Amino acid sequence: MKNPFLFLSGLLFLLTNYLPAQDLDVKRLKSEVQHRIDTYLDKEKKLAPFYEISDDGMIVYASAEKKSKKEPDLKIAWSSLAAATPKAEANQIRNQTLPLEHIRIALDPGHTAGDINCGKIEQKYLQIPKDSLHHIPQDFELVEGHLTLGVALTLKKKLEDAGAIVMLTHHKPDETACGSSFEEWKKTEFNQVLDSLVLCKKITVQQRLFYKTKADNRKIFRDIFRDIELQKRADLINAFHPDITVIIHFNVDEKNTDWKKFTDKDFVMTFIGGGMLPSDLKRPEERIEFLRMATTDDLDKSEKLSGAVVKSFSSILKVPIASRTQANYLRDNCITTPTPGVYCRNLILTRIVHTPLVYGETLYQDNRDECRKLMLEDGEIEGVKTSARVREVGEAYYQGILTYFSK
Ligand SMILES: [Zn+2]
Repeated sequence: MKNPFLFLSGLLFLLTNYLPAQDLDVKRLKSEVQHRIDTYLDKEKKLAPFYEISDDGMIVYASAEKKSKKEPDLKIAWSSLAAATPKAEANQIRNQTLPLEHIRIALDPGHTAGDINCGKIEQKYLQIPKDSLHHIPQDFELVEGHLTLGVALTLKKKLEDAGAIVMLTHHKPDETACGSSFEEWKKTEFNQVLDSLVLCKKITVQQRLFYKTKADNRKIFRDIFRDIELQKRADLINAFHPDITVIIHFNVDEKNTDWKKFTDKDFVMTFIGGGMLPSDLKRPEERIEFLRMATTDDLDKSEKLSGAVVKSFSSILKVPIASRTQANYLRDNCITTPTPGVYCRNLILTRIVHTPLVYGETLYQDNRDECRKLMLEDGEIEGVKTSARVREVGEAYYQGILTYFSK
């Protein structure tokens, strides 16, 4: 379903940015790469059979067997990395008139749904009917894609006013990164996608028939469309070559299953790449991303950016930062970084976006007070209704980004 050449071309671009080294500090490079693997990438200390850090460079193997036979899958020489320097504009903003002048920022509003019907197809909505609980005077309905778009448009304006060059992966309610709605995609591209999936043996002829004739929208979205659309988001972001990427989501309490009642919990957290297991290195494109994350400073910068943003979430939104015991996925699926509220998690976007990034999970939509605040829509930006709480979330991202670039 994914095209490894897209990953390859992205990586090649990345490597051509580096100049040949005059003086190679091999010892420092080796220790930096090992530190990154230990701190961010190797979740259960089981990745050693897949790589080698030698005096010449870093080698990645497809399996332990290939390593024992000395048959490398990928290799990068220290000389290609040593002269890597941070982008000049990102370090010189103090001399600019505007605080973010020339900084390129990609914003990815998570999900796409603009209303509850689309929210149900992508399974990102909250609906608490008034008669399901005592003492609530109205139905409660939230659609995550609507909230994230409101935040992204609010944040875009603030960043542009501060001089940044901003791109969004999608701009309107129900619009996807493929440039159309899910329903339009189904009409125009779905059949062709199914045919190509059969051709590359990702699905059988019988499965194609099932998806064409029997599968409902939720299943088509989950099984076929979601990953294609996420890849498209990453392609758009990587082609824009941003200094940072901001991926915007709202959280829910994982233990409040079905979200038919309120929770009293409320936390903020952020994700960056990493947290990989041996099973995450099976495909060639996954090993390329592992090599990229180990040998560039994308993860170091992501931790700093995410640390600044999550601190800003907590102080502006007045919501505590989640510790690793607060959710099972933090304890079981993530590496806890030294920075509070920043977790390494091998999500599709934290892996295939080739820039420093913050994947923000602000507050729990199913928290009693948050739900009320998020539904009180008294403003509008570019045709999208917003609440004061959504605008506050935009401000929290903005202040975190300013802090990151002012250091
Ligand atoms: Zn989300």
